[in-house]
Amino acid sequence: MALIITDECINCDVCEPECPNEAIYLGEQIYEIDSHKCTECVGHFDEPQCVQVCPVACIPVNPQFIEDKETLWQKYRRLQLVAAKPDAAT
Ligand code: SF4
Ligand code: SF4
Repeated sequence: MALIITDECINCDVCEPECPNEAIYLGEQIYEIDSHKCTECVGHFDEPQCVQVCPVACIPVNPQFIEDKETLWQKYRRLQLVAAKPDAAT
């Protein structure tokens, strides 16, 4: 499952650098998560790192992106492949 940041976010900036997939970014008002990049930290850590550090516990599962562990693993592998291909355009 990908996670989502709710409007309880206080923009403390703590989670963004902790994401191994660079899935967290500052949106128009609060931080947001790119669901296509979030693997719930599968492939990197045992627990979602953003959830671990968020002081207001505002990062639940995104109900629009329910994915099982295998799907998250495949997403992780895909992201790794893209990162390893600097000249993928050709
Ligand atoms: S769960 Fe992991 S991959 Fe997903 S946004 Fe949080 S830190 Fe990034
Ligand atoms: S750690 Fe929590 S409160 Fe801080 S920016 Fe991230 S989602 Fe928002």
